[in-house]
Amino acid sequence: MIHNDKILSMMKFCEPMREHTTFKIGGPADIWAQPKDLESLMQIIGLCRSESMPVVIAGNGSNLLIKDKGIKACVINLNTAYFKSLKVEADSVTAGAGLGLSRLINVFCKEGLSGLESLAGIPATVGGALAMNAGGKAWIGDFIEEVSVMDGELKVRNLDRKELVFRYRGSNLGKYIVLNARFKFRKSNPETVKKQTKRFLDEKIKNQDLAAKSAGCVFKNPNGASAGRLIDLSGFKGKNVGDAFVSEKHTNFIINAQNATCSDVLKLMDKIIVKVKKDHGVRLEPEIKVLG
Ligand SMILES: Cc1cc2nc3c(=O)[nH]c(=O)nc-3n(C[C@H](O)[C@H](O)[C@H](O)COP(=O)(O)OP(=O)(O)OC[C@H]3O[C@@H](n4cnc5c(N)ncnc54)[C@H](O)[C@@H]3O)c2cc1C
Repeated sequence: MIHNDKILSMMKFCEPMREHTTFKIGGPADIWAQPKDLESLMQIIGLCRSESMPVVIAGNGSNLLIKDKGIKACVINLNTAYFKSLKVEADSVTAGAGLGLSRLINVFCKEGLSGLESLAGIPATVGGALAMNAGGKAWIGDFIEEVSVMDGELKVRNLDRKELVFRYRGSNLGKYIVLNARFKFRKSNPETVKKQTKRFLDEKIKNQDLAAKSAGCVFKNPNGASAGRLIDLSGFKGKNVGDAFVSEKHTNFIINAQNATCSDVLKLMDKIIVKVKKDHGVRLEPEIKVLG
């Protein structure tokens, strides 16, 4: 039982996760917690440990598929003022893990800082983007100098460049809680950075269903191939299970047309995996994280 009123005020019980994912899918989390500062974050984790309750970190939920029965865990989200800090200095920018990546990119545009232009349109938080090494044409990990994290012993550590490992769709940051990160950049001018950012965003709007309910690309690109192209060649464009549809625009996106369930999405993913393996001899690996 939780007897701490301050901590209780930061928690919601039986919170529908469909409210906190871009897929708009998912049953309830036992606890949804938004710590107001570092101390509350430590207290929440301490309480969960004393109750043997698993802890999961969620950013904007833009890479998450939550099971229909929900998650038996405390889902911690850093979308509070303390964790959305932003400090712009002459040679670096430090951003909190809960800050929206789009907000950070806007600041890069305004200040004429070049580097993150091609990440425009990714609906991540800074923490989620770092854990996943978000990107496409360039990767967020390429622009990081230092990351401040909380480790398993609830100690705050600063990881410098040498301690950071960024790879395709992942990093070594998943085992920590990312608190904030220091970004490097090339100094440019606002007009050029804005123009480049808009160019990348326009290209994504043309080729992806950015406004639809989805979690972006469902499968990782297998070595040297495009998962979307293999899915397309296997005839899945526009195919569905229930309200879960393979996008017509980008065949590696699954769209929740209205009331898709996690089970619909998983069934559609299974069909795709089996057919692509049969047709092309390639086993697709999910990029999205299925929780619950
Ligand atoms: C329309 C659309 C377009 C997309 N386009 C792209 C794209 O171009 N490139 C790309 O790479 N991805 C893309 N994605 C996928 C997604 O946006 C990225 O994977 C993103 O990095 C997830 O960030 P998030 O904040 O939503 O994290 P979540 O989805 O909430 O979490 C993802 C993972 O990060 C972990 N995590 C979150 N916050 C923290 C933290 N503070 N500390 C430690 N771990 C944390 C979570 O535990 C989880 O394992 C797209 C998604 C959508 C919906």
